Amino acid sequence: MNIDSLKPFKKKEVIIKNLVKFEQNGCRCGSWLDHWLKFSYVKVQKCVVIGCSNIDLIGCGVTKIRKKDESIYIIPMCKKHSQSEDEMKILPSCPLISADIKITCGEEQPEKTKYVEI
Ligand SMILES: [Zn+2]
Ligand SMILES: [Zn+2]
Repeated sequence: MNIDSLKPFKKKEVIIKNLVKFEQNGCRCGSWLDHWLKFSYVKVQKCVVIGCSNIDLIGCGVTKIRKKDESIYIIPMCKKHSQSEDEMKILPSCPLISADIKITCGEEQPEKTKYVEI
């Protein structure tokens, strides 16, 4: 067993960098915000940047800072923060949902026929 898992859970701050030019890429959830809502199972009231209480949310593509993890994640942030390229501290309880559609919503599939031959 990993020693770390024996320690009491401690919330660490999460620092992200917003990828301002990150765009929808074949995701079929409607928007990245819908994509986040679908996989996070969390209700979000406001922007997840610490100290921000704006409610005009957009799903944004971000990467983690100080982690050897170059994956792109989706988080809900307000319009103002969605345009910021600064490093931002977000709520540690905010789930980071992968923007890799292959491990989340999947690629577009042709709709299966529901007819049964008789
Ligand atoms: Zn999606
Ligand atoms: Zn904000």
